[in-house]
Parts: sequence; structure tokens; C-alpha cells
Amino acid sequence: MGTESRAATTDSQSVLQARELSKVYRTGEVEVHALRNVNLDLVSGELIVLLGASGSGKSTLLNILGGLDTPTSGEVRFLGQPLTAVDDAALTRYRRDHVGFVFQFYNLIPSLTALENVSLVTEIARQPMAPEEALQLVGLGPRIHHFPAQLSGGEQQRVAIARAIAKRPDLLLCDEPTGALDSPTAVLVLQAIERIHAELGTTTALITHNSVIAEMATRVLYMRDGQIQQETRNATRRAASELSW
Ligand code: ADP
Ligand code: MG
Repeated sequence: MGTESRAATTDSQSVLQARELSKVYRTGEVEVHALRNVNLDLVSGELIVLLGASGSGKSTLLNILGGLDTPTSGEVRFLGQPLTAVDDAALTRYRRDHVGFVFQFYNLIPSLTALENVSLVTEIARQPMAPEEALQLVGLGPRIHHFPAQLSGGEQQRVAIARAIAKRPDLLLCDEPTGALDSPTAVLVLQAIERIHAELGTTTALITHNSVIAEMATRVLYMRDGQIQQETRNATRRAASELSW
């Protein structure tokens, strides 16, 4: 899948289409139905929040949308092109060229500075921004030469966000990015995600089990027992800076 597909994206177009996604994990004789016939379209430029109790299938869904995992049945299309039933190399290209991931734990390399951690990605990306620019966007301009151990948890997470977006991905997928952070620190991380979404227009999906965070979304999906149980649209969005819990 080439970068030419990026040019085809327009404001109201589905970036991702998931149809009848199911995922069954088998451990010995036990079957867990992590996803049950999920249908979802992600529209270019939206910021969706996925809410739901632990075990409801949020991570499984995000991992499949991001090409980290494959469904047991069903189909995912990225800009109209199937991601399911492609080989591993194609899935790797999809992840590398089009998807930025942020997880609860930052997974930075301790022996590299913030700048060097981001540079690892920009060196292999097709049309990256300068690593300094990515770190500026998340408010870490003055800290680019610090090592992870010299940064707070929230700052380390913002380095991870800079690393995820420096390649200018079409999709930013965040799985509980503030799960390990206290409320004021989490707000700074959410402000970084909000700014990326506003300034780069990156289509963003964010998993949380904190319903306050859903107020910054354009659309909120509620997952339960492997299904999208409910969906709402926020008529007005709250700025991340106004959120507290
Ligand atoms: P959430 O992110 O909403 O907490 P998950 O998508 O991680 O939920 O998990 C959904 C269900 O699938 C849970 O019951 C979980 O235990 C199960 N599950 C997730 N990953 C695996 C796995 N690799 N092997 C077996 N079961 C799994
Ligand atoms: Mg999860």
C-alpha cells in the first residue's frame, strides 16, 4: 500500500471500514469471543473515543484496525483496500507507513535521548517531519536532549506521542495513553493529542475507561462484551485543558 493512497483522503471519506469483525481467542479448550460482528467506519479527521469496561474488546479492536492483529472473521479496509487476507509484509507496510501507536507504557529506549527515540522512526519513514518539530508539537522543545529517566511519566508519554506522529501517519491509535498518569499530567498528554488532531488533522482513536475523556471526542463508542453497544456524537467538544477528574 503506497503513500499515493494518502492523497485520496478527503474530509468526509472513510479512512477505515471494519465489517463484521469477530475475534475468537482459543486457549486450550476455552474460547473467548473478544469481538462479535463489529462494524465501524472511521471518517477522515475525526477523533473517536472508545469507552468500555476492562475485557470488553477495546484493545482487540484497535489492534486489528492498526494491523497488529488479525480478525478471526470479517474484513477491514484502509482507503478502500483490504487489510485482511493480505500477507504479513503488506500488513507491516500498512503499520509502518500509515499508523502511529501510543500505548499505556511508553516503551522508550532508556539509553537514547528524546530526540534520538523519535529519530529512530523518522529515519525509516517516507515523509517524516523533523524529530525536533514532532517534539515541539507535544510541548517538549526544551527537553529534546533529555533521557527518559530525566523526564516525568507525562513527558515520556509525550515523547511516545511525538514518535508516533513524526512519520505523519494517517491514523493515530492510542490505547489507554493516560492510564498510568495522574489527572493533571494526563491532561497535558491529552492536550498533545488534541493539538496533533487539530493541527495535522490526524484521524485519531483513543481508548480509555475514563468517561470524562470522552468529552473531547467528536464521537464516542461504547463497547460491551465484544460489541459496540452504543454510539454518540458530541455536539460540543470540551477542550482537553478543561477536563479534570
Ligand atoms: P479491553 O481492551 O477492553 O480490556 P481486550 O480487547 O484486551 O479488552 O480483551 C477482550 C477479551 O479478549 C478479554 O476477555 C481478554 O481476556 C481476551 N483476550 C485478549 N487478548 C487475548 C489473548 N491474546 N489471548 C486470549 N484471550 C485474550
Ligand atoms: Mg485494553
